[in-house]
Amino acid sequence: MNTSDKNSGLLFRESVDKMVDRAVCVLGLNENITAAIKACSSVLQVTFPVKIDDHLEIFTGWRAVHSIHKLPSKGGIRYAPQVDQQDVEALAALMTYKCAIVDVPFGGSKGGLHIDPTQYSRDQLQLITRRFASELIKKGFLSPASNVPAPDVGTGQREMAWIVDTYKHLHPEDINHSACVTGKPVEDGGIFGRVEATGRGVQFALQEFFRHPQEVEAAGFEGDLEGKSIIVQGFGNVGYHLAKFLSEEDGARIIAIICRDGALYSEKGLDVEDIYQHKKLGGGFIEYQADGVEYFADGDTVLEYPCDILIPAAMEGVIHTENADRIKAQMIVEAANGPVTYEADAILHNNGKTILPDAYVNAGGVIVSYFEWIRNQTHIRFGRMERRYDERRGKMIIDAIEGISGGSVSIPLKRDLIHGADELELVRSGLDDSMRLALQEIILVKNQYDEITDYRTAAYVIALRKIARYYSDVGVY
Ligand code: NAD
Repeated sequence: MNTSDKNSGLLFRESVDKMVDRAVCVLGLNENITAAIKACSSVLQVTFPVKIDDHLEIFTGWRAVHSIHKLPSKGGIRYAPQVDQQDVEALAALMTYKCAIVDVPFGGSKGGLHIDPTQYSRDQLQLITRRFASELIKKGFLSPASNVPAPDVGTGQREMAWIVDTYKHLHPEDINHSACVTGKPVEDGGIFGRVEATGRGVQFALQEFFRHPQEVEAAGFEGDLEGKSIIVQGFGNVGYHLAKFLSEEDGARIIAIICRDGALYSEKGLDVEDIYQHKKLGGGFIEYQADGVEYFADGDTVLEYPCDILIPAAMEGVIHTENADRIKAQMIVEAANGPVTYEADAILHNNGKTILPDAYVNAGGVIVSYFEWIRNQTHIRFGRMERRYDERRGKMIIDAIEGISGGSVSIPLKRDLIHGADELELVRSGLDDSMRLALQEIILVKNQYDEITDYRTAAYVIALRKIARYYSDVGVY
């Protein structure tokens, strides 16, 4: 069983619960409601055989539903050799709080399959995924109305396409079948902007943070993201996109990227896209060469290098009691789920570090999944009805301004005013809005209560208030 912290032995699930308890204390929540909120509603374990080459292999997977106070329950499916039931329960609980924090009307769920996906061919993974999906569907743990997975570690658009196809074959009468999973390829009912949504959400979270001078000063910073030194751990979906956006669009310096096979370091900042293209061609970090870039075989120690912002975007429990004291970054932005253990959180806090918590920071994925789920039920892409109408109105307004003033609007401004938003722009706008509003509320709550000194507790106070309100309004039956 995976422990969240190597020294204390606290499980990931217990670590999440203990962090939530701090917010429970602040609110003085009734203990029955607290128990109802924290309990995992149901967990399914499935064990199934799949023919791999000339033999049968047995696979074990889980789907945990943490809460059903809103439906469907939502959360990714993870393929990893170290995943277990309590991991999935912890991640499902995080999903419940995350959805509440960013105002997405879903309960929390998460799935996991005990597998090392790198050891199987594409065809074998398809067989395994389809069989896992049909187990979940037949047992009531996967449908557009009740439980909707998405990609997580080790899964992506490809697996989501296999899952939706499996569901469609089992439920051809369900007109909303494509809403049974999110993170699909756009051609199979996905939405523009979902692939990069979590990384984009991390960027929007940081941009919003730097719009609050008091918070920026309290974190020991000045100015905005321009020139800030950032270390990123993990170079998968989340790590790659956030590193790319922060360096290319905000002028931040990504001074190190840490992966399973070591770390790359450059004081002047790495070329994120160049490294990504190198990896895409099958190159390892050790073979990457560029001016001023150093390779370190022991990636874990690079976590402890001086920088302004450290962004763990790989996996849980990477900052623990052993290394927390050595973390030099001024701010830790939790793009991964659960990267800082309960005990490490306290050490970092005592050392004056600022932590933006996972349940807020990496919510971009579920926010855009929410948009995708809505799109699948309306059966129409966002912007299809109004885009050209908006463009025509923009042109009429410019004509009117020019007619009245006798002058002419500049061509770039004309282009901007006439432009009607397409789906990607609308998705980005909705994501930006959700991330901004959520952080504004977190800051408000943090500054409202004397006993709250960190963003995590403030975020959980917001989540608990919303979920507790539901339980006290409808009761528990
Ligand atoms: P991924 O599988 O695409 O990438 C994971 C990356 O982490 C890989 O680059 C891998 O090499 C690296 N990694 C794994 N173990 C490592 C270690 N010990 N040291 C250094 N690097 C290591 O996964 P992802 O989708 O990018 O997810 C990363 C994290 O973000 C997870 O915690 C996940 O739960 C969380 N998350 C993902 C999404 C999403 O939309 N994909 C949404 C919310 C949260």
